[in-house]
Amino acid sequence: MNWITNFVRPKLQAFVGKKEVPDNLWETCPKCSQMLLKRELENNSFVCKHCDHHFRISAKQRLSFFLGNNFMVMDTPKVKADPLKFKDNKKYSDRLKEAQKKNSTYDSVIVASGTIEKKKVTVAIFDFNFMGGSMGMAAGEAIVTACNYARNNNLPLIIFSSSGGARMQEGILSLMQMPRTVIAVNSLSKTNLPFISVLTDPTTGGVSASFAMLGDIIIAEKDATIGFAGSRVIEETIKEKLPQNFQKSEYLIEKGMIDIVVHRKELNKKISDIIEFLT
Ligand SMILES: [Zn+2]
Repeated sequence: MNWITNFVRPKLQAFVGKKEVPDNLWETCPKCSQMLLKRELENNSFVCKHCDHHFRISAKQRLSFFLGNNFMVMDTPKVKADPLKFKDNKKYSDRLKEAQKKNSTYDSVIVASGTIEKKKVTVAIFDFNFMGGSMGMAAGEAIVTACNYARNNNLPLIIFSSSGGARMQEGILSLMQMPRTVIAVNSLSKTNLPFISVLTDPTTGGVSASFAMLGDIIIAEKDATIGFAGSRVIEETIKEKLPQNFQKSEYLIEKGMIDIVVHRKELNKKISDIIEFLT
């Protein structure tokens, strides 16, 4: 790059006898801009030790935080890929393949069963890394699978949402997943099985406008953005300045939209207590 990086730094490193620390060992906190060692961050449940910012985590990470090593991931029904032959500047089928390869998952929701503090549960987890956690036909099938499994095995259901909303490349077929998932979670209430909805950053659009807001208990992870439309769109529509923490968990609890705001590290204990209380 310049003579400092090309010449002075290697000389200094040779002198000190230390290898340069690779960049990928560090993560910058988007909230307080502090550098965090990735390993330390992971050991701290991906929460910044300086400002308590909750980093977004993948569905697989969430699964292992929640159920440890002892869980069974379920196969979810395969759906017709790219039914509308949708194409913007890229084919939807290509985007889908890329996301599947990048995340090593079939679609944006994984379903599993396991135990939390000795209580058997069914979980469905959205992965925001998979096309923004968008809900298309495959995600709809996954939610229905989770509900059926919970009902057939008499287990509580916990859904961790993290989604930008409907999968627009599937058009009306993705919007149809909203009533479908609502019917699926409602089928649990007839059997008195608890459905706990955990809203994590971000839960928006068609997911927040369907099953995610129908939990018997609605938990929001600390500092999560939860809403339907983005705040800028709302501001432009109503021509008013919105409060600074608008659509944040802490704001929503004040307005009575959710039941509790929980720190990620306390989530397992809290969910276990709720299950015990409800069952
Ligand atoms: Zn921070």
